[in-house]
Amino acid sequence: MAKLINGKEVAASVRAKVKEETEKFTNETGIQVGLAVIIVGDNPASRIYVNNKKKACEEVGFKSYEYALPAETTQDELLELVRTLNNDETVHGILCQLPLPAHIDEKTVINEINPEKDVDAFHPVNVGKIMIGDYNFLPCTPAGCMELIHSTGISVKGKNCTVVGRSNIVGKPMAMLLLHESGTVTVCHSKTVDLKEECKRADILVAAVGVPKLIKGDMIKEGAVVIDVGMNRLPDGKLCGDVDFEQASEKASYITPVPGGVGPMTIAMLMKNTLTAAKNMAAKGK
Ligand code: NDP
Repeated sequence: MAKLINGKEVAASVRAKVKEETEKFTNETGIQVGLAVIIVGDNPASRIYVNNKKKACEEVGFKSYEYALPAETTQDELLELVRTLNNDETVHGILCQLPLPAHIDEKTVINEINPEKDVDAFHPVNVGKIMIGDYNFLPCTPAGCMELIHSTGISVKGKNCTVVGRSNIVGKPMAMLLLHESGTVTVCHSKTVDLKEECKRADILVAAVGVPKLIKGDMIKEGAVVIDVGMNRLPDGKLCGDVDFEQASEKASYITPVPGGVGPMTIAMLMKNTLTAAKNMAAKGK
């Protein structure tokens, strides 16, 4: 029976460390770390995420600035706000909650954020830095998954790692982080011919698909570490991962639950990135 990887606990310890370092940083420099969160429109899921991010900011001692803009905000108005925040020295991190309304091009908005304040690590400059392994920030969800893998004490080095999903925000950077730690990495997607075989070879399996319970017990290698990024809302309102948790628990050595696995890590890593941004800016005298 698999051991549970407790994302709530690991995330709490990341936040506690950020809080401690923030206190030290603020005492030494007099700078209060600031995170600006932009939300456009009234997507209820986005509202929950933004509220959670604000709460986490308070907990670690950051100031959070919320910009809640109406759904009809134009792209130019949003870009203007991003430029203002880029030049605001009390703001160290800028986050634009996705998805944006259809009339706004997400790529254009992300490209406008100063890469030094891009705490989501979505800007092409930061994406490129991750590729070459010389980065300031890691994208929050994959970085959180790495922390969870580390928490098991199992090394990635030399392991067969399979990532299911190749999105820019989870699958691709996840594969890169595993590669940086010398895993032998396979990336699967909707055109993968034999998903079961690819998964069964994995010592470390990361599922980031968005299909409830896609990964069944017979797709999992005995003793594998299973990280389930999926957050799928079932018709009964319950949250469910991409992995069939009951079946997978019979085979895996370690597994993340949904909820309470990867989810809490994403915000904890956002706090870590924001502190890093503030420290980097302070070091450059900005
Ligand atoms: P995307 O929809 O952007 O990407 C999904 C990926 O899964 C694509 O690469 C797609 O392949 C692949 N895929 C879809 N169906 C299959 C299939 N049947 N077999 C194999 N691969 C398949 O999703 P995200 O990466 O943004 O998110 C993935 C999941 O993670 C979602 O449930 C999301 O809610 C969750 N998530 C959770 C976060 C957290 O904090 N816990 C943060 C971000 C996401 P193709 O490229 O070929 O289309």
